[in-house]
Amino acid sequence: MSLSLEGKTCLVTGGSRGIGKAIALRLAEFGADVAITYARSADAAEEVKEEIEKLGRKAKALQADAVDLARTEEVIAELVDDWGKIDIIVNNAGITKDNLILRMNEEQWDDVINTNLKSIFNYSKAAAKPMMRNRGGSIINISSVVGISGNAGQSNYAASKAGIIGFTKSYAKELASRNIRANVVAPGYILTDMTDQLDEKVLQGIKDETPLGRAGNAEEVADAVVFLASDMSSYVTGEVIRVDGGMAM
Ligand code: NAD
Repeated sequence: MSLSLEGKTCLVTGGSRGIGKAIALRLAEFGADVAITYARSADAAEEVKEEIEKLGRKAKALQADAVDLARTEEVIAELVDDWGKIDIIVNNAGITKDNLILRMNEEQWDDVINTNLKSIFNYSKAAAKPMMRNRGGSIINISSVVGISGNAGQSNYAASKAGIIGFTKSYAKELASRNIRANVVAPGYILTDMTDQLDEKVLQGIKDETPLGRAGNAEEVADAVVFLASDMSSYVTGEVIRVDGGMAM
């Protein structure tokens, strides 16, 4: 067994920046052909596509709102038509709209639950049949330590990220007999655009609560994804791997 992803085809949602971009490039470095989806940033997505191609792999950048099931089905159909199969899906697209519960409005709740949770249902569902035909696959869903421990001011995000864990374990049980594995990566505090919005005091507090004493980087999350994508994890399903410097242990 090896970590090689040579001959594998992958899709990473929200792959134009941050953790999704790092995952897309890491998968390509390990030999996979990689498609990314993006919501709005066509230029950034095109740059990631070109970086993947420079690594000698096939690449696609597809505009697709992850909440839209019909568009999700089109994306999976295009990949199967053009590349013959889909081996690995990384459900990375996600958003935050933080507020205290007493101040949280319906839109903040609905947007976060819908984007973070329905997107995972959409791609996992759409990929299931092609993966069954191909006699196997690996789904990797990006949750968060906030889905494990909760966080004041992030009840919508915590609920969505905890929901991802429950969904993934159910999916893993339903599809194990088809050799389809499903696992979760739960990052802690990772330096990206998402965490750039946090103020200095909050960031220092997060670092103080992290046993390894520092923020993580997107590549460290991507490394866990490579393991779960590869045959090195062939007996691992329904698992949650925290990449959090020990924050939620
Ligand atoms: P980011 O905001 O930099 O990137 C999120 C990506 O998701 C963007 O490319 C965005 O366009 C895409 N996206 C959002 N809504 C979408 C939609 N409806 N359809 C398609 N794409 C959509 O954030 P990031 O920090 O790179 O986070 C990536 C994932 O990791 C998210 O699921 C996030 O919740 C999770 N996460 C991040 C951290 C962190 O510290 N950065 C910690 C734990 C978990």
